Amino acid sequence: MPITDPASLSPTLQLAFELLRRPSVTPDDLGCQDLMIERLEALGFHIERLPFGDVENFWATRGHHGPLMAFAGHTDVVPSGPHVRWDYPPFEPCIDDDGMLRGRGAADMKGSLAAMITAVERFVATHPDHHGKIGFLITSDEEGPAVDGTRAVVEHLRERHERLDYCIVGEPSSTDAMGDVIKNGRRGSLGGVLHIKGIQGHVAYPHLANNPIHQAMPALNALVKEHWDGGNDFFPATSFQVSNFRAGTGATNVIPGDVEVVFNFRFSTEVTHGDLQARTRAILDAHDLDYHIDWTLNGEPFLTAEGELVEATLHGVEAVTGRQPRLSTSGGTSDGRFIATLGSQVVELGPCNATIHQTNERVRATDLDELSRIYEAVLTKLFVNGKAQP
Ligand SMILES: [Zn+2]
Repeated sequence: MPITDPASLSPTLQLAFELLRRPSVTPDDLGCQDLMIERLEALGFHIERLPFGDVENFWATRGHHGPLMAFAGHTDVVPSGPHVRWDYPPFEPCIDDDGMLRGRGAADMKGSLAAMITAVERFVATHPDHHGKIGFLITSDEEGPAVDGTRAVVEHLRERHERLDYCIVGEPSSTDAMGDVIKNGRRGSLGGVLHIKGIQGHVAYPHLANNPIHQAMPALNALVKEHWDGGNDFFPATSFQVSNFRAGTGATNVIPGDVEVVFNFRFSTEVTHGDLQARTRAILDAHDLDYHIDWTLNGEPFLTAEGELVEATLHGVEAVTGRQPRLSTSGGTSDGRFIATLGSQVVELGPCNATIHQTNERVRATDLDELSRIYEAVLTKLFVNGKAQP
């Protein structure tokens, strides 16, 4: 029989149940942050609610001296899709017979939020006058446009010259077992829409037309073949991918007047987005095209190659689970990209990501208890054993 009453469960799982019962689909928070704030206020945290637009955010800190270590995360979840496709209702959490906590957000990332809170509760109980400052940067818009969420809070902190030395983002970084992977960076993402102009005409009279598809092909081939960089120890080589190619009127006898090509770079720290834009233009210019590009910078790459935080998280995972985590920068973008711009050391450390955004999202219940102990071990390493002074 699945467990639906959390009364007998650990404090971490009890809080996870409470968060999972709220269908907080982006940008709705539905009281998740109130729950967290109530617990943090009881620990003496100073709370600042920072709503922007229809997004709820808060920033909370405790402690008065030394470096600041913040936990970051989001209370919003992606939509569940039709409930009939779920084995258990997505917003009625339970632990199934295999010991898996089920519900939308169990892995991404309400389980991590619960683990952060209980980790800090135990840490503060043991070290009420701890060295260093502990922070929480929580948003209800990570899965959506991500404009009024972490990005806006970070700008607010920047204006105030707030220091943020270390940050653990609770995104589900683990692959096969709790803590086997810690993300210590992410690639950048640069999108572009390339418009190439030709001259429309009859296919039987090509000398009166200018076929933009024919012009586009060698230019795109050059972009695809370009060696943008070789990557480095932490990042694979930068890649250029075309995701959409639109041209043509549908008629078989018409040369189209224009072409639209949608492409995306996932890039390493060996190049900047400015380099990629300039090199793209140089290649297109060499092909003598009539074109323009609309660019969208989705995120700069970030990397925390080494330092106290990487050391403390490696140590925490090993101390609690016996596993030696692998550092990785794989995957899409995350809110870490915004936080890293404050000059912070940033890592992502959370439970297994196998079912995130899927139906039947689930995470091993005991993994969340381990995660809570890992977060606590990181705080202990930084502020008790290490007395970090960056
Ligand atoms: Zn997430």
